[in-house]
Amino acid sequence: MQTGNINVKTENIFPVIKKFLYSDHDIFLRELVSNAVDATQKLKVLVRQSKTKSELGDITIDVKVDKENKTLHVIDHGIGMTAEEVDKYINQIAFSSAEEFLEKYKGTDAANIIGHFGLGFYSAFMVASNVEIITKSYQEGAKAVKWTCDGSTEYQMTEAEKEDRGTEIILHIAEDAEEFLDEYKIVGLLKKYCRFLPVPIRCGMEKTWEKPEGEEKEKEVEKPRIINNTNPLWKQSPSELTDEDYLKFYRELYPATFEEPLFHIHLNVDYPFNLTGILYFPKVKSHLELQKNKVQLYCNQVFITDQLEGIIPEFMMLLHGVIDSPDIPLNVSRSYLQSDANVKKISTHITKKVADKLEEMFKNNREEFEKKWDDIKVFIQYGCITDEKFYERASKFMLLKNTEGKYFTLDEYKAKIEPLQKDKNDVLVYLYAANTDEQHLYIQAAKEKGYDVLLMDGVLDTHFVNMLEPKMEKCRFARVDSDIIDKLIEKEETQISKLSDKERDSLKEIFEKNVPAKEKYTVLVESLSESDLPVMITQNEFMRRFKDMEKLSGQQGYYGNFENYNLVVNGNHPLASRILNEEDAEKKDALTQQLIDLALLSQNILTGEKLSQFVKRSIDLL
Ligand code: ADP
Ligand code: MG
Repeated sequence: MQTGNINVKTENIFPVIKKFLYSDHDIFLRELVSNAVDATQKLKVLVRQSKTKSELGDITIDVKVDKENKTLHVIDHGIGMTAEEVDKYINQIAFSSAEEFLEKYKGTDAANIIGHFGLGFYSAFMVASNVEIITKSYQEGAKAVKWTCDGSTEYQMTEAEKEDRGTEIILHIAEDAEEFLDEYKIVGLLKKYCRFLPVPIRCGMEKTWEKPEGEEKEKEVEKPRIINNTNPLWKQSPSELTDEDYLKFYRELYPATFEEPLFHIHLNVDYPFNLTGILYFPKVKSHLELQKNKVQLYCNQVFITDQLEGIIPEFMMLLHGVIDSPDIPLNVSRSYLQSDANVKKISTHITKKVADKLEEMFKNNREEFEKKWDDIKVFIQYGCITDEKFYERASKFMLLKNTEGKYFTLDEYKAKIEPLQKDKNDVLVYLYAANTDEQHLYIQAAKEKGYDVLLMDGVLDTHFVNMLEPKMEKCRFARVDSDIIDKLIEKEETQISKLSDKERDSLKEIFEKNVPAKEKYTVLVESLSESDLPVMITQNEFMRRFKDMEKLSGQQGYYGNFENYNLVVNGNHPLASRILNEEDAEKKDALTQQLIDLALLSQNILTGEKLSQFVKRSIDLL
């Protein structure tokens, strides 16, 4: 028997492992199983390269929960270790064999060694009071070894009895970690971290319904539970996969999501870093928050996290799918990860790939792209708002939709409206509506002038407009109800006022007297054409945008409490003269109120008692 001290620099590293290394104790299982996978993959390489006489045999990894004896076992049939190797790789902490192995057996088939996670094997002490290793190397004539350690820096090593090649790790679960003796819990963890590992993992039994051969009916059978899909789709070659395969994999990833994705991107990069993965585009309408944390990050098929803040661009988090890269450093804290140069490169690269794919779709099949546009618009706008580089790429395939349901690129739309929608200062005015029903009257007014109106009814449209406007030269966005149309696009010729200044003042006075809430409405008398409406409600474009932005950011801010509209009276309308000439004061007020109410009604703000009064007054007037 050999006893000795584990080679650690600090007095006792175990309390550190236990308390600080991972906030999440669960990951000990990920570490042990990935070691077992590594040992198995190494053996596969040796067998393939005929470096051993050993036969592969059944390489399934077993994870066993022994509740009675309070132990958890991870058993593999990998390369195992000799006593010297245990000494080297286990007793000298942080000495990994992964690198050495890769160096020695260069070649593509050795690339699947995981290694280098964190404190790897020693994370077992986060949940175990005592750990045993019983291992037998694949090498001819190797003797089995048993190593034990109780979490102090002392270990014991003896010869052991073991029939077959490979390693069994036995954890004597600590009292404060007995949850890990629950098979459901263990299966849950394996499903989380090991779902796509390349070597089959077995844990406990499960019941399934099957149709036995030659029989009619399905029967419930009990079978060993296999945890993982050893050949996940993202590791396969895109040229051999069908859309149906991608859809099936999507359902495997998100069994609880019913909506199907719109399309996918298969990522496959090997220079300047390694990255594979599949990203799915879901339908994104609103509720940005709900969609997050769907992209899963893997390292050599080991699940790492789905909390990707700071790792991939914010807007990419709206996507679904998996990213797998051995080049992301995983044993370190999140803040380190966020500033890591590799991570930044990966993030930039993914953004580029996604933009490329969208552009390709746009170029190859515009019709299909337009069909998908409404569902991907939020994603693309989010990207443009938060990522300058993405905006530059996206400006090529970014679409605007008008109130007639037609789609245009930015350039196409500019060319379309340029001849008509320039104001007297040469500024091109993009008119838009947020709701075709509510703003129908205003849209009509614009269309009568021959103008085109965009539909901007998305959650991010105000944000988007704020971003776009300064990037485009000599242009302005204006919602159709933000002013009367002649003011929105002001031309040289102005309407001549039929009223004298005195008459205009008295008209203003009458309306101010009758307006329901004086602090809310500013009365303006304008000289419009006779065919324009007598009274209109408008809301200043910038005031409204401020309010929209506040709403979106969830703040109840200054502007949000500030209701402010313009009540625009058309002094040239025959009804204006009629009000001025009305002798009967009561009738004069009634007529004025009636016009105000009609304007409020068309803006959907006449409700309750005011609406009842309007109905009654209308009947009286009739
Ligand atoms: P890493 O996996 O990064 O190398 P670990 O602390 O997880 O670090 O493991 C240290 C070393 O111990 C491994 O590199 C390997 O040589 C050895 N080892 C651990 N588990 C096993 C196992 N199940 N079979 C064979 N060797 C193992
Ligand atoms: Mg390891």
